[in-house]
Amino acid sequence: MSQSITNGHAPDTSRRHTRVLIIGSGLSGLGTAVRLSQEGYTDFLVIERGDDVGGTWRVNTYPGAGCDVPSQLYSYSFALNPEWSRSFSPQPEIQRYIQGIADRYGVRDKHIFDCAMTGARWNDVDSRWEVDTTRGGFTADVVVSAAGVLAEPNLPDIKGIHTFEGEIFHSAQWDHDADLSGKRVAVIGTGASAVQIVPAIAPQVAHLDVYQRTAAWVFPHLTRGYLAPERFAFKHVPGLQRLIRGLIYANRELFVVTQAKYPATARLLEVIARVKLWSEVRDPALRKRLTPTFRAGCKRLLVSNKFYPALTRDNVDLVTDGIEEIRGSSIVSNDGTEREVDAIVLCTGFHVADSPTYSMFAGRDGRTLLEEFETDGLQAYKGTTVAGFPNAFTMLGANSGLNYTSLIYVIESQIAYVIDALATMEKQGLRTFEVRQEVQDEYNRALRRKMARGVWLTGGCTSWFLDRHGNNPVLWPDFSFRLRQLLRKFDVENYETTKHAATQGDPSTVAAQAGQSTNGSGVHAPAGHESA
Ligand code: NAP
Repeated sequence: MSQSITNGHAPDTSRRHTRVLIIGSGLSGLGTAVRLSQEGYTDFLVIERGDDVGGTWRVNTYPGAGCDVPSQLYSYSFALNPEWSRSFSPQPEIQRYIQGIADRYGVRDKHIFDCAMTGARWNDVDSRWEVDTTRGGFTADVVVSAAGVLAEPNLPDIKGIHTFEGEIFHSAQWDHDADLSGKRVAVIGTGASAVQIVPAIAPQVAHLDVYQRTAAWVFPHLTRGYLAPERFAFKHVPGLQRLIRGLIYANRELFVVTQAKYPATARLLEVIARVKLWSEVRDPALRKRLTPTFRAGCKRLLVSNKFYPALTRDNVDLVTDGIEEIRGSSIVSNDGTEREVDAIVLCTGFHVADSPTYSMFAGRDGRTLLEEFETDGLQAYKGTTVAGFPNAFTMLGANSGLNYTSLIYVIESQIAYVIDALATMEKQGLRTFEVRQEVQDEYNRALRRKMARGVWLTGGCTSWFLDRHGNNPVLWPDFSFRLRQLLRKFDVENYETTKHAATQGDPSTVAAQAGQSTNGSGVHAPAGHESA
């Protein structure tokens, strides 16, 4: 159902205009930029609040930072990396890979760094997004929000935290000037970041208190260094690396069976984790405190060979009494014990389902994403578009997360959808597209029916996957290739669209315009809609 938009209104030219504005240059934003460039688009920009590409891998520089997804999966499909040094890569190597992508594909000059978005509004009169940033205003026909999922540190609301007299920082904001050597340190949280940080700093600090609220399932980390002949083979034997990548991908899809389809089978996984715990922690009392009370997979599975051994060190204590308050330079636990520390490292995760970015986007009715999600929680269509927010894509949006395999797989699936949507706009002379509310609602009803079986809702835990409504708006509840299938083609029939005035009701004009849809500089743009 298309309708024509004609107006004599002159668009705001004080803002810099671009056809596609990508917000954020992590793996999603950078990947989108590269693929747009490969498809011949030149009229796009990437704004990035940091000073470099990399997103979460630029920011998370804490000691021990690395990826718990196999290296072979953790690269773009168009840029496999035969040079990985290990089967699971450390953060510096991943960041170098990402920087190398920006250089190799020549998209750095499309970036505006140190440019943070402060607000984005859909202007229904001009059919454009108006985006405010710390470096001026922009307008864009299409916005790709790639602001990241693990981007906003969750700082715990502990009484007295702001009056702590020592050094205190979040894992994602590691203070490299703070020398922890010989200091008394507290780590709050025992999630994916903490299991990497604790063993990395334990040998160097005088004393370490690890504050655990909920014990997690920890599995063996099958990491090893690659041998030179392996790397040689990855580089020189045609198809070998892709074959291995495919096998690892298929293998990891088996997690879907235990997490989404038959959570009872997670008991088998728990046996592995229990044997590991038993063999690495010999003290029965400590072991008991480290034994989870929920089904494995309900929270993100952790992998580490060093976390339990670190907890058994003489200079490390596991504190499970809960935190009452922070007083002066001490942490006081619920049983009244006061433990003095010089520094606190907050490994308390991120705002995911309640990301502050949601209050920055205002859609067609002026309502923000936050307001939109107020009544029923975070929702999207195929994780990528949201009703009421025309001409916008949300990379890693609602229910597109994976916690057992590489998110790059989802990112590339979404990028394919974005590229096909842009091509469809050109072909059909579309000015706007917006997913139909009823389509999005039906999609989400089906998704929630599927989700109801999953371990995240039935496994007896609370986690950051869940919102305050008790839904899981974060994860995709099925095999990842099913999401890819959904995103293969832009299904324009499920969208409300408007056309450029000249193309309204005249298929021949549309076809003609599709044929001349570059603006002379190689920029793909629907006719009558050139950059300002
Ligand atoms: P996380 O997994 O969400 O863990 C946060 C930890 O902090 C949990 O143990 C949580 O306890 C605890 N916590 C939160 N608020 C607290 C409070 N007020 N008082 C006491 N404890 C509190 O966070 P993360 O470790 O930063 O990891 C976040 C996500 O980043 C991961 O799930 C993963 O997706 C990603 N990550 C990935 C890798 C990788 O290797 N690929 C590495 C690091 C992080 P409860 O369990 O009781 O809530």
